[in-house]
Amino acid sequence: LTQLFRPLDLLGMVYRTVRQGVVDMGAMFDLIDAPAEIVDVANAPPMTVTRGHVRFEGVGFDYGDGRQILNGIDLDIPPGTTLAVVGPSGAGKSTLARLLFRFYDPTAGRITIDGQDIAQVAQASLRSAIGIVPQDTVLFNDTIGYNIAYGRADATAAEIAEAARGASIAPFIASLPDRYDTRVGERGLKLSGGEKQRVAIARTLLKNPPVLILDEATSALDSRTEADILDTLEAIERGRTTIVIAHRLSTVVHADRIVVLEGGRVVESGSHADLLRLGGTYAEMWARQAAEREAALAEA
Ligand code: ATP
Repeated sequence: LTQLFRPLDLLGMVYRTVRQGVVDMGAMFDLIDAPAEIVDVANAPPMTVTRGHVRFEGVGFDYGDGRQILNGIDLDIPPGTTLAVVGPSGAGKSTLARLLFRFYDPTAGRITIDGQDIAQVAQASLRSAIGIVPQDTVLFNDTIGYNIAYGRADATAAEIAEAARGASIAPFIASLPDRYDTRVGERGLKLSGGEKQRVAIARTLLKNPPVLILDEATSALDSRTEADILDTLEAIERGRTTIVIAHRLSTVVHADRIVVLEGGRVVESGSHADLLRLGGTYAEMWARQAAEREAALAEA
């Protein structure tokens, strides 16, 4: 009888581990509902990412409640370039990122990386190729070193320190009582929004993924911290195919291409200069945010 149950136990353990992984990533994406179960196709091969060419081809999506969230999305993100996605709240920006990470499968069209349909490859290989810097990083009640290495249990102390330098959080860690062994999280040192984001950046540097999703923090950072973080983010975007889910336009000016999403459709696409010239939604958003920035400066 024990023989019979052993494989089941093992299966249960694997299932729980996988679930846990999904829930952690879900929390990072600010997903309250557990995502639908995505199952690999039989004998799904691992994905091989050589250049990191990401394409959305005629992608449509609904969450199953009959509301069409994305419609006919065509995006071509050449290797190593940055695409910024902007648009009003509820336009479907985060949904695009969730589909790329395969929390859900599109209901129409497909997404490919280097020509491989992401729904046809092993999920683990897809997810190991994509790094996410979320809006709000989940910290574990453990040391700051553990938190940076999270997801790369084999990382050496030297690699962790290098990632911390790359994320410009090394001087902060050097000032902590126990340095990399300082406990953080609910039951330890509380980190600011900017410091947490730097931990996420350091994690990403350790993972070294060819494809990157940045879900930009909305309000957690003051403008000084935001400017500092932007420099660091630009550094990690270099050489990777990056999708930035942007809430503030000041952060997208450098993107190779910007798309404006509205009601689940791409309504404008081009560089910052192109879109200003177009005088449409983006130009309006830009003028509004510039006015808000000026008002805030006048108040300060
Ligand atoms: P914001 O800028 O506010 O973050 P967004 O453009 O990222 O918005 P999404 O989070 O992609 O928008 O949401 C797009 C639409 O999908 C919204 O109307 C939202 O209510 C809906 N939606 C998001 N997640 C779910 C879900 N799990 N189930 C059902 N509907 C959802």
